[in-house]
Amino acid sequence: MRGIIEISISDVAPERNKILMNQGISSEMELPAKVNKLLKGTMKLFLKFSHPKGIISDISIHQFEAIYEGEGLNEKSTPIKGIFRKADNLALFAVTIGKEVSQKIDELFTANEFALGSMLDSVASAGTDKTADIIEKHLFDLLINKGEITPSTGILRYSPGYCGWHLSGQKKLFEFLHPEDIGVTLLESYLMKPLKSISGVLVAGKKEIHKIEDSYPFCSQCKTHSCQKRIKLLSSEKNPNNRELDHNG
Ligand code: SF4
Repeated sequence: MRGIIEISISDVAPERNKILMNQGISSEMELPAKVNKLLKGTMKLFLKFSHPKGIISDISIHQFEAIYEGEGLNEKSTPIKGIFRKADNLALFAVTIGKEVSQKIDELFTANEFALGSMLDSVASAGTDKTADIIEKHLFDLLINKGEITPSTGILRYSPGYCGWHLSGQKKLFEFLHPEDIGVTLLESYLMKPLKSISGVLVAGKKEIHKIEDSYPFCSQCKTHSCQKRIKLLSSEKNPNNRELDHNG
């Protein structure tokens, strides 16, 4: 299975708390009217200039071994190495919200509209994350239809550049997936263009395979320790996939 997924812009409008988090502002804080107005104006720009799309392809554990090894630059011991071999299903993915929104951000900074440019950058990052959530949900729905999801199944995504998977892993990932088909190309630096894109592997398997310790040598440099929040969210009622399963039995 390999497919391009057209995503509705209304499905990826990010939540206010995620945007504020990207700005380093607590969502508990009462915002000045000026900031609220800025947020509203930025959301309009995001909706106008973003064009979310995704691409997904299933991949066997054996095929992914070679992609994960990449250019041989990964950390020796990594959480993902222990997780993907225990997966029931793997899929490579890439998502983007397109180049226009990045061009708009550049334009705003060039015009010294720093507040608007920075807020749009935060909205676009949160929107890109939400686009990746949609792809995760897409795989979940595909596997539900195939009868391959149980209440103990958890799907999480992992990307090159994080948790010991070297960014150069993008090279082999791109050679297999061809995100160029949705307008995403790889620069020599292994960064993606447009910048507001995410690629990686979706790992579907028992929820417990995703449980990892944040005690690898590189974890001391990690600012978010997001692995721990993501594991909690897997079992939480806030996880839309869990709610879906309640409805589907
Ligand atoms: S602490 Fe950070 S680097 Fe370490 S496993 Fe968790 S998310 Fe990855």
